[in-house]
Amino acid sequence: MRHRPPALVDTHSSFRHLTKGHRLQTSSLIGGKWVGSADGTTLAVTNPATDEVIARVQALGAAETRDAVDAAYRAGPRWASTTAAERGTLIARLATLMRRDVERLARLMTLEQGKPLAEARGEIGYAASFLDWAAEEGKRLKGEIIPASAADKRILVLRQPVGVTAIITPWNFPAAMITRKLGPALAAGCTVVIKPAEDTPLSALAIGELACEAGIPDGVINIITGKAAPIGDAMFDDPRVRKLSFTGSTEVGRMLMGKASKNLLRISLELGGHAPFIVFDDADMDRAVDAAVACKFRNAGQTCICANRFYVQAGVYDEFVSRFAVAIEGLRVGDGLSDGVQIGPLINDAAMEKVESHIQNATSLGGRLVVGGKRVRVDGHADRFYAPTLVAEMTPEMLVCREETFGPVAPVAKFNSESEAITRANDSEFGLAAYFFTRDASRLMRVAESLEYGIVGANDAAPSTAQAPFGGVKHSGLGREGGSHAMDEYSEIKYVSWRL
Ligand code: NAP
Repeated sequence: MRHRPPALVDTHSSFRHLTKGHRLQTSSLIGGKWVGSADGTTLAVTNPATDEVIARVQALGAAETRDAVDAAYRAGPRWASTTAAERGTLIARLATLMRRDVERLARLMTLEQGKPLAEARGEIGYAASFLDWAAEEGKRLKGEIIPASAADKRILVLRQPVGVTAIITPWNFPAAMITRKLGPALAAGCTVVIKPAEDTPLSALAIGELACEAGIPDGVINIITGKAAPIGDAMFDDPRVRKLSFTGSTEVGRMLMGKASKNLLRISLELGGHAPFIVFDDADMDRAVDAAVACKFRNAGQTCICANRFYVQAGVYDEFVSRFAVAIEGLRVGDGLSDGVQIGPLINDAAMEKVESHIQNATSLGGRLVVGGKRVRVDGHADRFYAPTLVAEMTPEMLVCREETFGPVAPVAKFNSESEAITRANDSEFGLAAYFFTRDASRLMRVAESLEYGIVGANDAAPSTAQAPFGGVKHSGLGREGGSHAMDEYSEIKYVSWRL
């Protein structure tokens, strides 16, 4: 690693008051050292609720990314040669430290991302659960012995770490999208270079600090902040990187898949979604309405698996729309740090423009605004809050029916038959999550099997959990994260043909 000016090493911001006295880590982590950019360039991190700059992180580039890959590469053999139990102990310790610091981490997340504090606390617990699961699951990464075709031969199948893994994550779940990759990668014996989203780097750096405290060896986890393209290009140009694990938009995922082809990387892509939410006539209406609110409005609708379009059977359409509208009107919009707030700000102005353009498009094509459809002014705050919105009479031409709105907008359409609901639900380029509500057991299995999605919530709008194989089909991605399947993404299979 090249020498760095001492003044840039171990740089800390002065925004301690924002996280209850704990100094914010704003430097990048390379080979166990906190480093700055060679030329002192930084990037502002802004609170989306207030537009205040809460910190400045280091803007590293291609040279530092190569240093990080170098550190990960050099740490690899030693890490891979530890036992799964030793790795598991360190991974679980990181989870414990995250839970110990849940209040500080949640507050930090709300400050940089905007989600309500209660949701941020929930995300820290959820993020830690991936580490706990992987810490145990690494111990079960077994090989095989296959009967050979010759009496003097044995065939042994080994599972070995893929190697240096590039982890690139989005802003909407700043902690969980990291640990969902980090846990199985480390458990399988890989070392990593993490590039968090530019909007939410502080949560990633805080996890890096806790990883150091947990005793995870230098170089096993490296975290680089800075502009995406030079960092990404340096990762993809370096043949020592063997794997890309990306969560983000389909558009960027597709572009990175192309770049990853240069060195034929193993890839896991967790991309965009457009979840249908179907309510049949025989559904438990209380459950369906509660689930619709939770599924749609969590994180202000900025969630890859949140419901994007609602299909409600004719017999209960009016009842569902009116009950859903009442529930939506009761949601409280405001700064995520304020008590009782359920809907925080959108992440940035581009997000607001997208939501408004989708509403404008829907109403111009005959959509009926039942609730919301406008910005909400929050005193002393940025103009970035949007009212939870219900649009009835959605049609297939509307943007809300085809593209991720990524905002608090629930468009609803009426359907008549089960086959119509399935056809309309599957009419999407995406295939991440789908939901439906029914009390008919035969229909439940039929519909679950017919939906072209990687995740199906049957009478359940909260399917995400550490032990399940999360992931999409079609343009929603490749591979699975979570559960034992996640281990496959970070291990290579090698067989030894052994002549006795
Ligand atoms: P995004 O724009 O695709 O960015 C995701 C990450 O890719 C960010 O870290 C971004 O960096 C980075 N990136 C962009 N261009 C790059 C390049 N040339 N080289 C290397 N990295 C590059 O997505 P987002 O807006 O952050 O997140 C929202 C999207 O993520 C939605 O589509 C959502 O559905 C999806 N998502 C999917 C899942 C899932 O599990 N399927 C989960 C959460 C979110 P910068 O931030 O620095 O630009």
